[in-house]
Amino acid sequence: MFGNAIQRVIGRFRSPQKIVNICFIAVFVFSTMLTWREVVVLESAYVANQRNSLNNVATLLDRQLQHNVDSLLFYRNAMHYALESPISTDKIRNALAEFDVLRTKPFWQLRPDLSRGLPMNGVSDEFVNNIPLLERDKQTIHSELSSVLELSYIMRLSDNGRTLPRRIFYTSRSGFFLTSTPPPNDPQITSLYNRLIAQPYFSAQSPENNPTRALKWTHTFNPNSPNGQIVTAAVPLDFNNRWYGVLALDFPIDSLHSFLQRARYDDHDGTVLLYDNELNPIVGTREKLPEHTLFTAPQLAKIANAVTGATRGEQGELRMDTRFITWAKLDTFDGLLIKVHTLEEGVQGEFGRISIVLSILWALFSLMLIVSWVVIRRLVNNMFTLQKTLTRRANYDTLTRLYNRGAFFDIARKLSKECQLRGQPFSVIQMDLDLFKSINDRFGHSSGDKVLAHAAAMLSDAFRNGDVAGRVGGEEFCIVLPDTSLEEAEKVAERIRVRINSRELLLKQGNTVRISASFGVSSAFEFNDYDFERLQSYADHRLYNAKQNGRNQVCSKD
Ligand code: GH3
Ligand code: MG
Ligand code: MG
Repeated sequence: MFGNAIQRVIGRFRSPQKIVNICFIAVFVFSTMLTWREVVVLESAYVANQRNSLNNVATLLDRQLQHNVDSLLFYRNAMHYALESPISTDKIRNALAEFDVLRTKPFWQLRPDLSRGLPMNGVSDEFVNNIPLLERDKQTIHSELSSVLELSYIMRLSDNGRTLPRRIFYTSRSGFFLTSTPPPNDPQITSLYNRLIAQPYFSAQSPENNPTRALKWTHTFNPNSPNGQIVTAAVPLDFNNRWYGVLALDFPIDSLHSFLQRARYDDHDGTVLLYDNELNPIVGTREKLPEHTLFTAPQLAKIANAVTGATRGEQGELRMDTRFITWAKLDTFDGLLIKVHTLEEGVQGEFGRISIVLSILWALFSLMLIVSWVVIRRLVNNMFTLQKTLTRRANYDTLTRLYNRGAFFDIARKLSKECQLRGQPFSVIQMDLDLFKSINDRFGHSSGDKVLAHAAAMLSDAFRNGDVAGRVGGEEFCIVLPDTSLEEAEKVAERIRVRINSRELLLKQGNTVRISASFGVSSAFEFNDYDFERLQSYADHRLYNAKQNGRNQVCSKD
């Protein structure tokens, strides 16, 4: 039943080629859709992977920066305690006395206990008096010095072999500073102090510039650093409404660069860059900061547009020409990490390899599909032609191209039944070539065949639409004429007879022959019988009469 339904559907398509085409198009569309679905899944996995990998770097960097910020705040707290209740030891008293001696010198270094603390480096009273931002307050200078001395003990304990190497320093408004990388006791101290107080991180901590006294990040140019840049986190030190100085932590670009490089595991996983909040590049995973052409101004504007409104820790991605850009806002630092993944890097990575394999598989499958489509179409075409030839052979006579006996009888029976049902007349003409044997004998069998084909062509030209003719014997033909009375059929037979006899036929070696045929006609009405076989035998009988009466004539009476 199911098979029949399929056959009915298939039967609606006249040509089997159409079915083959539709099947192949369907397979191609499905395979392409499946591949596309895989590509979509792969793409979302790629995006998630890019986000994760940047998120890892951002988390690691945030953790490190937070750790450092915590220690900076810890140092500030320690100094608050020290300022509130200064410790008085011999060493401190000696150091303060030494300071009172050294304070007028252009530069000085206090080294009360180098085995445990770090030296304090300072400039003269005169230097301090000349700069409005500075002040060596008589009331507080000793307590500040003793607290900084305590800080120097703690700073000594700070671990230098950390993941993200950095420098800690305290720059006082009273003309001295303490740093975890102490300079030698020489004129360098003056220039270094000068530079420290000239840095934006210092001036940015004045009560006017930083009213909330919060931690501030700055990103400045440092001629001493090979890459010329430095990132600093700074907090102001205030006590009893007096601004004492600035505690700061700075990260040399090199240390940030090697940290980012270590945090990003895979070489093919793109370039990670740290940008400040105005989208100025600070440092990246590449050896040198990428040239300005990494992003054009409109591209930077596009990134800024995507980042605008993002809160801390938020991340996102965008496509830019052949590059895939992922960005993540840092929690601790006032800036963002941007990851640039180029097409070449993508192709060399895991996702690129899977995409290439997928594309090759799809291309191979499509190619095989096209090849098999060509082969199957050719096969179907051949089968179709063969089927048509076989049907023709089964129903038609190859010599005369008329219906053969079997097919003709089937059609004739059907037509006679139809006429009977409709009560219409139905006639039969039986035709036989005259003295055909003698043509065979005189000119050979092949000439006889030619005569047969010629007679059949004359016959086909003469009868009307709706009449059907067949070759029912060697040189015998039969014509059925639905809806045709005996008189009309007789006229048709006469027309055929005249036509066959009207021309001479050229045979081989220039011989010509004029052929003739005899006809017997019968009709259903005269016998009140629609049985085709019987009507044919009546016609045959009349044909015999025609032969007897001298041939080349039509006989429609017994
Ligand atoms: P009549 O006028 O009485 O019909 O004479 P006739 O010679 O046509 O009658 P007969 O039935 O004796 O001869 C028919 C001949 O037709 C016999 C046979 O060799 C020949 N014939 C039958 N089929 C074919 C054919 O396919 N090709 C050729 N060349 N001859 C055929
Ligand atoms: Mg004959
Ligand atoms: Mg015969």
